[in-house]
Amino acid sequence: MKIIDIHHHFFSTSTITAFEKMLGPKTMEEFKKRMENSQRISQFQNLKSPVEQAQILRKDMKRKGIDQVLLMAFTYDAESAFEAHQSYPESFPGVIPFLNPEIDRDSNILLEWKEKGAVGVKFYPGMWNKMRFSDDSLFPYLKKIEELDLVPLIHFGVMKGATQRNWPINPLELKPWLQRTDLNLNFVIAHFGAGYLREILLMAYSYGKKIYVDTSGSNDWIFWSPWQDLTYVFEKTIKALGSDHVLFGTDSGLNLLRKDVIDRQLGILTDLMAKKIITLEDKAKILGLNAKELFGI
Ligand SMILES: [Zn+2]
Repeated sequence: MKIIDIHHHFFSTSTITAFEKMLGPKTMEEFKKRMENSQRISQFQNLKSPVEQAQILRKDMKRKGIDQVLLMAFTYDAESAFEAHQSYPESFPGVIPFLNPEIDRDSNILLEWKEKGAVGVKFYPGMWNKMRFSDDSLFPYLKKIEELDLVPLIHFGVMKGATQRNWPINPLELKPWLQRTDLNLNFVIAHFGAGYLREILLMAYSYGKKIYVDTSGSNDWIFWSPWQDLTYVFEKTIKALGSDHVLFGTDSGLNLLRKDVIDRQLGILTDLMAKKIITLEDKAKILGLNAKELFGI
């Protein structure tokens, strides 16, 4: 059974430069200070070139049983992920660059990304200063995404490592984009909606065909929610959205692939099979077949 991780943040030496550019000198100082107080600073300092990082990640994939990874690229860092993809397309069949419409003012950047190997686009509206995901000004981007056959992947909900200015965004912001008749897009919502699974399932009542979730991350938002545990979250989501609309992901990055996340999710799927809630075919879909079809990889 082929396993594809659709949510992996690609890091290399150029990520540091990208962060400096994205955060600005003041926030970067704060970020560095926070890093210095944790072990992560040495991991940052040990980062290698994009191709070398790609080689390290490939070894890690082999060790942890992951066949393919979609590389998510931070703002200003798409080139490094494209380089990794072009060097090892069989391991990294596509790239998902972050798009911040407050920074990437011209939607034509999407065509350039597509030509270099993008299969999706990541949105993180909780980090935006003024724009909202439901703003009309987002339409040209989404229309272009549709034309280029890319898949939007959105982080709504709570945010880890967020600054005080950030605010969780409700996935109901999808309203105009699900209702418009001149836009036909599927949306992948990361981390089961990071706290907003209820809203996702309620939207799916009418618009289920256009809504997908990824399973990535620790999903520890569950702790602050009425949902019992991750097994229940999987079960409920599969029942409401169908096994065709759930995509496996780890949300790993700086520390390479997260073994705890992989083991936990594989365990849950095995458990659900034993309970006859899902079949072997459902498991194969969630772990890779759905991603293959949706992203055309
Ligand atoms: Zn992530």
